[in-house]
Amino acid sequence: MNDCLNEITRALLQSDVSFPLVKEMQTNIKKIVNLDDLAAGHNKRLIIEQDERPVFAPKKAKPSSVVMFVGLQGAGKTTTCTKYAYYHQKKGYKTALVCADTFRAGVFDQLKQNATKAKIPFYGSYTESDPVKIAAEGVDRFKKEKCDLIIVDTSGRHKQEASLCEEILQVAEATEPDLVIFVMDSSIGQAAFDQAQAFKQTVSVGAVIITKMDGHAKGGGALSAVAATKSPVIFIGTGEHMDEFEVFDVKPFVSRLLGKGDWSGLVDKLQEVVPKDLQHELVENLSQGNFTLRTMYDQFQCSLQIPLNQVRISCSIVACTIAELMPKGHGDESRAKRYMTMMDSMTNKELDSSNTKVFNESRIMRIARGSGRLVREVMELLEEYKRIAKTMKGIKIPKNGDMSNKVIP
Ligand code: GDP
Repeated sequence: MNDCLNEITRALLQSDVSFPLVKEMQTNIKKIVNLDDLAAGHNKRLIIEQDERPVFAPKKAKPSSVVMFVGLQGAGKTTTCTKYAYYHQKKGYKTALVCADTFRAGVFDQLKQNATKAKIPFYGSYTESDPVKIAAEGVDRFKKEKCDLIIVDTSGRHKQEASLCEEILQVAEATEPDLVIFVMDSSIGQAAFDQAQAFKQTVSVGAVIITKMDGHAKGGGALSAVAATKSPVIFIGTGEHMDEFEVFDVKPFVSRLLGKGDWSGLVDKLQEVVPKDLQHELVENLSQGNFTLRTMYDQFQCSLQIPLNQVRISCSIVACTIAELMPKGHGDESRAKRYMTMMDSMTNKELDSSNTKVFNESRIMRIARGSGRLVREVMELLEEYKRIAKTMKGIKIPKNGDMSNKVIP
């Protein structure tokens, strides 16, 4: 068990989980495993589950539930407010948004635009500078309109500071939220503890949402935020769009933290979208460490058929390439398509070679002309290929294609 714990410890530390937390986890696991020593008759499952608290769910019955969002500027608060509203609206709640962020310029427009797109009522002001007044008026109005769930977006700052604490405290006093959600960017790492703690000391944070899980960060800081606020993670943000929002699921999150890909679901999906003969070829090529431009082309083609969320959260061969290439959002699919157009102008020999030296100056110019792209873009594609091929080399794929429980280095 110690070996196993040491391995987990290493992986967690590499994923930005703080050392004291990892130590605490070790102690807790040892305690739980020692449950075996407990006297017979104890319900072990119950003992473990005692730690889990039910997560807040807004009521459909009146009075309205008020949920307030807090977090630093840029964490993704405003985006997440709309996602949260949209998620509940789809579940049949009558939701509404209140923009009590008067600090960041343009935030009301951002919220208004998103809310309008999702047909969610909103409240805010271009002229009123007192966030407390706006929050109170907005909540009051939507309570009168008998909304089920009123979401209040508050201001952030670049770092936690006294003026922000004072402001959110006053907004909380004016709106009496049923739940305060702390929103954090998955890439903040070790800073998460202090940040989350500062908010918790000001208002009664009851849940955490981690944003930008579609990026490269593993989200280890979330554990620090959970420890600091003593609250669960309830959702994750997986993109800039309204529906790129998922209920938090422990298993894939932990797999990602430990550096393990959640292969199983993706392999099923791959089998659905990759033609049978190509499946065999793909596995064969990858198991021999043979990642050519053609393999990359096939990967692009397949992955364009898989929903991006799934690709990004799972950590598969396809995910590695696509997450690397398309880190920002749906619009970036065009980048893969652009690369594919350029690859269409390559010869078979070039596509099947894993050495970019076959591309001399005149071939690069020819490919650019043939695909209607710039020489610079062809060179960028070759650089990307080299980078991805290097990553791919580190992934060992067994010949039988059974990729469950494979570890991404
Ligand atoms: P706020 O200052 O905390 O209100 O942050 P915003 O909601 O304005 O978000 C800051 C930036 O992060 C914007 O460009 C958002 O589109 C982006 N963003 C928010 N959530 C996500 C997410 O889950 N994934 C990605 N890729 N971007 C996100």
